[in-house]
Amino acid sequence: MSDDELVALLVEAIGAEAVTSGEHVNPDDLHDESLHPSFGTPACVARPKTTADVVAIVEIGRRTATPMVARGSGTGLSGAAIPTDGCIVVAFDHMASILEIDLANQVAVVQPGVTLAQLDDALLGTGYRYPVQPGEHSGSLGGNVSTNAGGMRAVRDGVTRSHVLGLEVVLADGSVLRTGGKIVKSSSGYDLTQLLVGSEGTLALVTEVTVKLSARLDHSTTLVAAFADLDGVADALPNLVSDGLTPAVLEYIDALTMAAITGSAGIELSIPAEVVAASGAYLVVVLEDSSADRLEGDLEATALALEAHGSIDTYVLSGSQGPRLIEARERAFYVAKANGATDIVDIVVPRAEVAPYLAEVGRIAQAHETFLTGCGHVGDGNVHMSIFEGDPERRTALLDELFAAGLRRGGQISGEHGIGSAKRDAYLRLSDPVRLDLEARIKEAFDPDGLLNPTRGGGRSPK
Ligand SMILES: Cc1cc2nc3c(=O)[nH]c(=O)nc-3n(C[C@H](O)[C@H](O)[C@H](O)COP(=O)(O)OP(=O)(O)OC[C@H]3O[C@@H](n4cnc5c(N)ncnc54)[C@H](O)[C@@H]3O)c2cc1C
Repeated sequence: MSDDELVALLVEAIGAEAVTSGEHVNPDDLHDESLHPSFGTPACVARPKTTADVVAIVEIGRRTATPMVARGSGTGLSGAAIPTDGCIVVAFDHMASILEIDLANQVAVVQPGVTLAQLDDALLGTGYRYPVQPGEHSGSLGGNVSTNAGGMRAVRDGVTRSHVLGLEVVLADGSVLRTGGKIVKSSSGYDLTQLLVGSEGTLALVTEVTVKLSARLDHSTTLVAAFADLDGVADALPNLVSDGLTPAVLEYIDALTMAAITGSAGIELSIPAEVVAASGAYLVVVLEDSSADRLEGDLEATALALEAHGSIDTYVLSGSQGPRLIEARERAFYVAKANGATDIVDIVVPRAEVAPYLAEVGRIAQAHETFLTGCGHVGDGNVHMSIFEGDPERRTALLDELFAAGLRRGGQISGEHGIGSAKRDAYLRLSDPVRLDLEARIKEAFDPDGLLNPTRGGGRSPK
């Protein structure tokens, strides 16, 4: 079937205004934020407004054997939403209504194109928030669900999968499946919600998401603790936990990355020069509480604990400095990109392995005569590294070694950004064959013709 015939079928099913093709395709629909996108030319971009539209698109895709690549806001870092040749890009940004905020059950029900920022705005004044806050707030809930997005607050609040209670999805045969709901527990059959979370658009298209809300704690403060090196940060962490402290954010930033992000955001932390000179790594701690008094108590206890557990010194950031530093950390990706980073990786290892893993990373980088910088969600073992290696063969060899070292320590290739297309080859090379075989059979059960986001994500395609 020609692209024109396919477009005609889609136009008839969901309306001319919902389908773009050829020169009318917006170039922004063709990429995400990954640094090595190798995207194909789609047959068209379809923008459903309702679940019925998605069913119609999937039925046409299935009848015409056309691959379908789901797209949220295109902020992904792993090339999971970029088109393959001849596919239908199913862009969810016109399915962006908040369907219900149900405070009696502490849940929100949203269409997949709703962004984190939109949901947060809608919850202002309710006393509740959706606590998962990955660094890019224009990301969509559908994209967050499909990548199992995390972010800095995961150390206390968990990742997306900890908050998704239910989904509505359109399966590859066009049928509509509802999983879970406004319930907080279930022992009724396989947990299909959790199987779909993190599946990167390879198993089904998400058309509705029910998320659990948490109390919004209005009082917060940010501390920066300077440490001689990352070992110091890593040693402090278990002690902070055993002291009973529950920070909302525990983020490590190496000295180079700290200088780059504060410099680029114009933030002056007022840390004395001799402390800066002695510091190889910083731990950024955000505390939140329901009252100013309780926050004051937490602040004192945390500052004392940081001092007792090895920080050179600890600084409480005043006024807007704390939120600005967190925002600068969220934008660290763009600073790395502007400085020529070739890859951003987000390997996750057991918490206690962060320091030894990073020491090994240093040795690997040295052996490859290359350059890495880093920051990361150290509270949950998620190491973010910017890699600067232009030669494709050397890059692949370096990345494989970094991933393999993480896997040997009991980790995973990606803690939150997903496998996408950027890490798929490495995932297939390095993963346990038993796991890959089972993933292939799961993919076959959901999508026997291999049409949903083929050649992306974890799991081998059946075809
Ligand atoms: C500056 C910056 C900071 C970031 N910080 C973080 C961070 O701290 N933590 C983190 O986890 N991520 C972070 N990210 C990555 C990104 O924001 C997340 O991966 C996010 O979940 C992607 O959402 P999206 O809507 O942009 O999805 P997209 O990039 O459009 O798509 C991502 C995946 O979801 C699939 N998908 C999208 N919608 C649907 C749907 N309705 N049904 C089925 N599949 C669908 C796509 O096919 C693709 O596989 C950051 C990105 C940037 C640019």
